[in-house]
Amino acid sequence: MLDRRDMLKLGVSAAAALAAPARAQTIKPRTRIVFLGTKGGPRVGNGASNPANLVMVNDTPFVIDCGMGVSRQLVAAGVPIPSIKYIFISHHHSDHNLEYGNLFYNAWAAGLSTPIQSFGPVGIEAMTRTYWELNKFDVETRIEDEGRPDPRKLLVPKDITADGVVLQTADVKVTAFRTPHPPITDNFAYKFETPDGTVVFSSDTAYNPKLAEFAKGADVLVHECLYLPAVDRLVAKTKNGATLKKHLLESHTTTEDVGRIAAAARVKVLVLSHFVPGDDPLVTDDNWTEDVKKNFSGRIIVAKDLMQLALPV
Ligand SMILES: [Zn+2]
Ligand SMILES: [Zn+2]
Repeated sequence: MLDRRDMLKLGVSAAAALAAPARAQTIKPRTRIVFLGTKGGPRVGNGASNPANLVMVNDTPFVIDCGMGVSRQLVAAGVPIPSIKYIFISHHHSDHNLEYGNLFYNAWAAGLSTPIQSFGPVGIEAMTRTYWELNKFDVETRIEDEGRPDPRKLLVPKDITADGVVLQTADVKVTAFRTPHPPITDNFAYKFETPDGTVVFSSDTAYNPKLAEFAKGADVLVHECLYLPAVDRLVAKTKNGATLKKHLLESHTTTEDVGRIAAAARVKVLVLSHFVPGDDPLVTDDNWTEDVKKNFSGRIIVAKDLMQLALPV
C-alpha cells in the first residue's frame, strides 16, 4: 500500500516527467539509446536535428555520428558533454561528421579532463589534425590565457580500415561492418553488444542483405530509411533534383527493403531513423511504417529527436 509520502514522491516524479521528459528520468536504466537527431541529410531546418545517436551504458556515453546540432541535443538529453568517452563516425558525409571536431571542442570548453577516443573510416585521423590547425589560435590562446589542458592530447582518433571489433570495454563490445553507400565504400555499420542487449546502427546504406547477417538476432536495429513517394517532392525543391534523386535511390534503403532486412535479421525491435526526406510535413508516421510492415511483423518505432529506448527491450 502507498503511504502519503510515497504518493507525494509519485506526484513529484510525474510532474517532473511531464515538465521535461528527456531530462527527468526518475528510474534510469543501465543501458539506453537516445535518438539525438533523426533527419537525414545536411540541410539544417526548424524541425528534427541532423543525424546523431547515443548509447548510454552505466553512464558512459557512446556517440554515434555527429551531424550538426549534436552538442545541443546532448545537452537537451541531459548528458554532460565532458562525460563523453567514445565517438563513432559511420562515414564522411557531412551530415554525420560536420560537428565531430566541434563536439569535442564543446566538451573541452565545458571542462573535459579525460580523453575521448574517436573511431571512423579512413580520414578521421587527418580530420582531427586539420581541426587543430583550424582552431590553433583559439586553442593556444585559451591554454595560455585560461590555464586549460591541451585538448589535442585528449582526442585520440583511430581510422578503421577493416571489419571487426574496434572497441572492447568492460561493458561493451563494438564491431564495425562495411556497407555500401554509393559512391562511398568507406562506410561502417556498428554493432554494440551491451550487458542488456545488442544494438546495430545501419549507417547510411544501400539495400544490403549482408547487413541482415551482421544484425542477426540483434535486440534493436536502428536503420536508415527512404520514403519513395516523398522523394519526388523533395527533389522538386532543389536545383540539383535529377542528380540528387539518382544518389538517393542508389545509396539509401526504401522502407519496403528496410522491412526485408529487419525480417531477415529477426530483430526484436526495428527503429526507423535518418529519415529521407526528414522534413516533409506530408509524411506521417504511418507512411514510414506502411511498407516496412509488408515484410516485418515485429515491433517498429519511428524515432523522434530525444526519444529514449531502454534496454533490455
Ligand atoms: Zn546521412
Ligand atoms: Zn551518407
